[in-house]
This record gives sequence, structure tokens and C-alpha cells, in this order.
Amino acid sequence: MNNIKNKKIAIIGAGPGGLTLARLLQMDGFNINVYERDTNENARPKGATLDLHEESGLAALQAAGLMNAFMANYRPGADRTRIVDQHGNIVFEDNDTENREAFRPEIDRGPLQKILLDSLEKDTVIWNSHFVSLKPDNGSWLIEFKNGDIVTADIVIAADGANSKIRPYITPVRPFYSGITIVEGAVYSSATATPKMHALLNGGKIFAMGNEKSLIVSSKGDGSLVFYTGCNTAEAWAKESGINFSDQNQVVNWFKREFSDWDPIWLELFENASAAFVPRPQYCMPLDQSWETISNLTMLGDAAHLMPPYAGEGVNMAMLDALELSECFKDNHFQNSKEAISAYEKQMLKRASETADMTMQSTKALHSADAINFLIDVIGGE
Ligand SMILES: Cc1cc2nc3c(=O)[nH]c(=O)nc-3n(C[C@H](O)[C@H](O)[C@H](O)COP(=O)(O)OP(=O)(O)OC[C@H]3O[C@@H](n4cnc5c(N)ncnc54)[C@H](O)[C@@H]3O)c2cc1C
Repeated sequence: MNNIKNKKIAIIGAGPGGLTLARLLQMDGFNINVYERDTNENARPKGATLDLHEESGLAALQAAGLMNAFMANYRPGADRTRIVDQHGNIVFEDNDTENREAFRPEIDRGPLQKILLDSLEKDTVIWNSHFVSLKPDNGSWLIEFKNGDIVTADIVIAADGANSKIRPYITPVRPFYSGITIVEGAVYSSATATPKMHALLNGGKIFAMGNEKSLIVSSKGDGSLVFYTGCNTAEAWAKESGINFSDQNQVVNWFKREFSDWDPIWLELFENASAAFVPRPQYCMPLDQSWETISNLTMLGDAAHLMPPYAGEGVNMAMLDALELSECFKDNHFQNSKEAISAYEKQMLKRASETADMTMQSTKALHSADAINFLIDVIGGE
């Protein structure tokens, strides 16, 4: 019997990966706290809706006993997908939601986070805890936060996302630039602010592609929509373009120039965006990354295997990591945390490498001349 249950476990980051792990361990009596830099659960606007996959995101929710809560909060029909060309013509529609919903239901990030938070014991998540540094302390860790707090933990799990500050304590391996930069925007009350796009969206998702560029638009349950362009650019483009992404006019002008061969219908999104735009250069972890296991420190989700969003796997992988890590911690075949973490990392790295490989192929294909046919094959072939 291993003694991991008696250890104090600190999870850094209350994203879907960290919260799923907290729930899966806490329901078996493990001693868990989650430390999150946000001041509360509503501190930031939440991004696009997520489709959860049966073998990963949904499997984790099932093990967490949260399928009823999920069924009460997912968005039937939100997986309706339209593939649209740059001129605004619908070239493919996937309306077979009755059959597909059972496999890839969509849920908004806010409700997913709420389901997970509500499943945890009170005060499990310590908000306003911005991780700064880790120091070894007699086999445990001293964890320092920006607000001056210092806590100890026997085991630390990095679930702090794409720019993880804990990852460098585990490995110096850094992600590589995928070649694509996203510009992300949002429209509140899309029915009135962007009626043409709202109608085209039809409560689901639009994948628009043309001239090696993409524009993905998703409806959200609160009546808003989110969208993001994808363009082949140099890694430093966002910084060196001179565009102030908080200035709507500058972004509108950039879109007109960069997407000059696209129909003006798409401009509606940029001219009526409700919040500042965010440029996001897309990175991916090397497919062959590995490191020496540490007995009391590991990572999951984007911290471990960041990848672009073009296969819809990021959240699903983060939640599956949580499931597999919790299973290893609970497995008494492992004598101690080092054996458990080693087994988790072995299977996680293999799976993440295969998924990142597939994601990079999809990223490339969706920004190639044949993008539309590629996506029709992927969606039509499901
Ligand atoms: C534009 C876009 C679209 C996407 N679309 C999809 C999609 O359709 N499907 C999909 O599966 N994935 C998608 N993804 C990827 C997905 O968002 C991530 O893979 C997923 O959120 C990773 O979960 P995580 O828990 O590992 O990290 P995160 O969700 O990033 O959570 C990390 C948490 O850690 C906190 N944190 C960060 N630093 C610190 C610190 N120093 N101290 C304390 N807390 C900290 C953060 O505030 C956050 O709450 C998309 C990503 C982008 C950018």
C-alpha cells in the first residue's frame, strides 16, 4: 500500500486539468489544495465552447461522478458545424447532432469550471495565489506566491497552463512555434450586434477557410460569440507588426488588408467586437520530449504538452491527464509517489506525442490551399 494519501498535495492552477485532478483525488480522501492566481472564479471572461470526447474529457467526468451535472449544463446542438468558404458560401453542414451529441457534446468553459468547483469541498481552491517559486525543503516543497504567502506541500502538481512557471523546475525543454498566430475576439449579444454572423452561426460553429487562412467562430450559451483568425506568420509577428490589438480600428484595418480576398461579410465580426483583441502565437511541445521523473513534482495539461487548438484536444488531454494521474496515485501496486508519477508520465508523454503529431498535421492542413477538403474529410468521416 503506498502512502500518497497521507501526503499534502498542492495543485497549481484551477483550469480544467487542475480542478479535475482535485475532484478525482478528493473524492478518495486525498489531502488537496488548488492554488489559483485569479482572484475568484469570475475574474476573467471565458473563451470558446469545448467539445468533450468520450475517451478523454467525458471519461474523466464519468470517473469524477459528474455526468449528471454535465448533462444538465451542456449545450445540445452547439456541435452543429458549418464549413464556409472565404466568400461566405456554406460548403458543408454537419447537422447530425442527434447521433453526434452522445459522443462530442459541447459545454461552455464557465459552466464546466462551475461543475468542477461545486464538486470540491469548501476552501479547496485558494484564490489570489499567483505562484512565484518552489524551494526544496527536506523532501517537501516550499511554495511562494506573489501575495507573500508561503505554503508547504509534499507533492506539487503543475496545472498552470501554457506558460507554466513550474515546468522549468522539471525540464528545460521549451515549446516550438507552430507557424500560426491567432487573433482572438468576442462579440457580446451577437443576435443584435452581428446579426448576419449570428444567423450563419445558427447556434453552432463556423469553420471558414480560404487562401491558407482560417476563421473559427463559436456561439456561447450566454448569447455571445467568440472567434479567432489563424494565419501563417513569423513567430514575432504579433510584437513586431506594430498593431495595437486594443485599438479596434487598427485590427479592422489589419483584417481588411490581410483578408482582402475574403468577402466583406466577415468584417461584421471585427467592426462589432466587444472586447480587446488578443494575439496568440501558437506553440507546441516537441513530440520527443522526456525528462527524469522527480519523486514529488509533475505536471499535466498545457503545462506538460501545449499544442495548437486545431484538433480540439487541449482540454480533453488535460482532463485525461488528471484521470490517469489520479489512477496512478490510487494504485497500490506503486510503492511510492515516484513510481506512480513515473508510470503516469510514461503514458502521458506517449499519448501527448501522438496527439500533438495529429494536431500539428491538422494545423498545417487547415492553413493550406486544400483546407476545406481536408476538414470535410475529417468531419464527414467521423
Ligand atoms: C483560442 C483557443 C481555442 C481553444 N479551443 C479549444 C477547443 O475547442 N477544445 C479544446 O480541447 N481545447 C481548446 N483550446 C486549448 C485549451 O484551452 C487548453 O488546452 C486547456 O485549457 C488546458 O487546460 P489546463 O487546465 O492545462 O490549463 P488552463 O486552462 O490554461 O488553466 C491553467 C490555470 O492556471 C492558472 N495559472 C497560470 N499561471 C499561474 C500561476 N503562476 N499561479 C497560479 N495559477 C496560475 C490560470 O489562471 C488558469 O486558471 C483552445 C485554446 C485557445 C487559445
